[in-house]
Amino acid sequence: MIESIGMKLLYFDYCALVILIALLFTTILRGLTKGRLNSCFINLIALSIVSTFADIASVALDGIPTVPLALRYCANTLYLVSHNMATPLYVIYLMILTDTDYRLKKLNYVLFVTPFLVIGTVAVINFFTGWLFYFDENFSYTRGPIFPILYASAFIYVIAILYLTFRYGMSLGWRTLIAISSLIPFMLSAVLLQFFNQSLLVEMFANAMSLFLCAALINRPEDILDTETGLSNKRACTQGLTRCMKNGKPLELILINITNYSFIESIVGYKGMVRILHRISSRITNANRANKYFSELYYVGNGQFCLEMDFRKFDKTTYIAHFINDILIPPIDYNNMELNLNAVTCVARCPEDIDDAESLLAFLNDLGRTFYTGQVLFASEIYSGNHYNLVRQIDAIIENALNNKAFEVYYQPIYSIREDRFNSAEALIRLHDETFGNISPEFFIPAAEKSGAIHRIGSYVLEEVCSFIKSPEFEALNVDYIEVNISAAQCMRHDLYKEILGIMRKHGVDHHRINLEITETATVFSQESLTDNMRKLESRGIGFSLDDFGTGYSNMDRVANMNFDIIKLDKSFVNVQRNIRRDIVLDNTVNMIKSLGMKIVVEGVETAEILQRFADLKCDYIQGFFFSQPLPKEEFITYIFAHNKAR
Ligand code: C2E
Ligand code: CA
Ligand code: CA
Repeated sequence: MIESIGMKLLYFDYCALVILIALLFTTILRGLTKGRLNSCFINLIALSIVSTFADIASVALDGIPTVPLALRYCANTLYLVSHNMATPLYVIYLMILTDTDYRLKKLNYVLFVTPFLVIGTVAVINFFTGWLFYFDENFSYTRGPIFPILYASAFIYVIAILYLTFRYGMSLGWRTLIAISSLIPFMLSAVLLQFFNQSLLVEMFANAMSLFLCAALINRPEDILDTETGLSNKRACTQGLTRCMKNGKPLELILINITNYSFIESIVGYKGMVRILHRISSRITNANRANKYFSELYYVGNGQFCLEMDFRKFDKTTYIAHFINDILIPPIDYNNMELNLNAVTCVARCPEDIDDAESLLAFLNDLGRTFYTGQVLFASEIYSGNHYNLVRQIDAIIENALNNKAFEVYYQPIYSIREDRFNSAEALIRLHDETFGNISPEFFIPAAEKSGAIHRIGSYVLEEVCSFIKSPEFEALNVDYIEVNISAAQCMRHDLYKEILGIMRKHGVDHHRINLEITETATVFSQESLTDNMRKLESRGIGFSLDDFGTGYSNMDRVANMNFDIIKLDKSFVNVQRNIRRDIVLDNTVNMIKSLGMKIVVEGVETAEILQRFADLKCDYIQGFFFSQPLPKEEFITYIFAHNKAR
């Protein structure tokens, strides 16, 4: 064993070698091989192995006088060059990490590689000049006159490392920041130690330890890899995009959304879906490879991919988007099935089209709702920044509106055909925002359901309606009851009935004055608590309407077995082009509902013709723009007063 030759201690180098080899293996075995950051990291480890090995070899050869001089020169030169290359490579690693590598173009690039090129040249001519090092008459290694330029070159790169760490470190998260900033004191002390005590070879050990820290703290696969596809995951994508946008790095992206993902998964199951996702991702990566383009592919989840191009050339990106779009068209063969992927591809430029990561991912998700045409889409044409600003702010807007009582309740008259009067009305909530104008309940109700604000909204609407019912104006209107919407999320609260009864009691409202509207979807997804709440409220005389009947989940058996007083035919069911078969379905649906003893409200009636058709079918009530839009309370009072009186 060579341990100390010419007083040089090799223990640290041996340790470094063991650590580095272990690091190389574990990095590969953990699957951290894809993407620019991982490749750069592997190169760093490999380079460190080479220089540690060269360090050991040159010291070892130093002690054997019979070794030819050329071989010694080679070992020492290899060590110096490879060791010196590690610093610029580390700078590149940091640049990739901070997404600033795009700045390394032309002039910057020349500046960047110059110090290293100088070292390389000096190292080569050193064979003849001995400027860096030479072997004296006793064959022992001696530093040459310009040896310090090695330090000078390293110093330039250290400045770059310091700059990147301080300028962008904060955007990387504390774990990464610790890893990269601990590196500087680490390496610096090793270099100083070795400078003053040349027998203590600790530089390679310090280098190995820094790489170990990076591996442990930065390249954590559990953080950045999707376990199923092995691709970078949503978290990596969000962090990467956020960083780019913060650091001003312009991007070109191809967004891919498999719009029928849930459908395919429902057929092939979870495991089958994983296999299909593998095939999709290899189709995409092969497309890239075929075009000799390098880029980062993220799997965001739910059949959504984001491909970050390594360049900014709109034509090229568009070309690749078409290429990928085309290769995703042929069906995937799976267990003798031919599965068509309805993959929507969309080209997006950041920051021109989309300038924040959160909106970008929301947009990618919403692509799932676009109608699949097989065409490549462009964010510049379909992305509305205003909409996604609203998406991001909606929770705060709702909270604000609740606190400042900015919601309003409108009423839409419902006309009874038999009695020829407006016998009821539907309470519909309205939200006006200073920045965004009128915000549709179709948009903010689902958001409120997600955030939980729906419970407060529900109580607010019921309070408003109850106080209206108890007002003297209402008494004079000859309106029997008000329909109040209850959302699916509200139905999932087991004590909803208490809340409703409590509010009605507080205002002293008769139970038959309120009819609660529940959508078909709610009846499917919240059965237990819903039926329980319904039973308790019904037993106290509160009526129920089934809202949006005919919009998808209709299951006549379930509907028949729930105690609805009224079925509301959805407007999409009402406003369709008539044909013989549709007429048969509609006639029979109406008859069936009537035979079950339930009344029918026809929603969305906009013309006299449609009104006549449903009157002929002996439907009970009509709601729609034909009579009136939803109206603010005062206007509603005026409208009903005039009409109910006049008849
Ligand atoms: P919905 O319960 O089906 O309400 C009927 C919707 O149809 C209303 O939209 C109404 O303005 C609209 N409408 C009425 N007549 C016509 C017509 O002739 N033609 C057309 N095209 N549309 C008509 P709005 O007010 O925008 O409400 C949308 C949805 O938001 C409601 O659908 C309901 O699901 C929800 N929503 C509204 N207010 C509340 C509320 O207070 N609580 C809850 N949980 N949901 C609410
Ligand atoms: Ca409704
Ligand atoms: Ca409805």
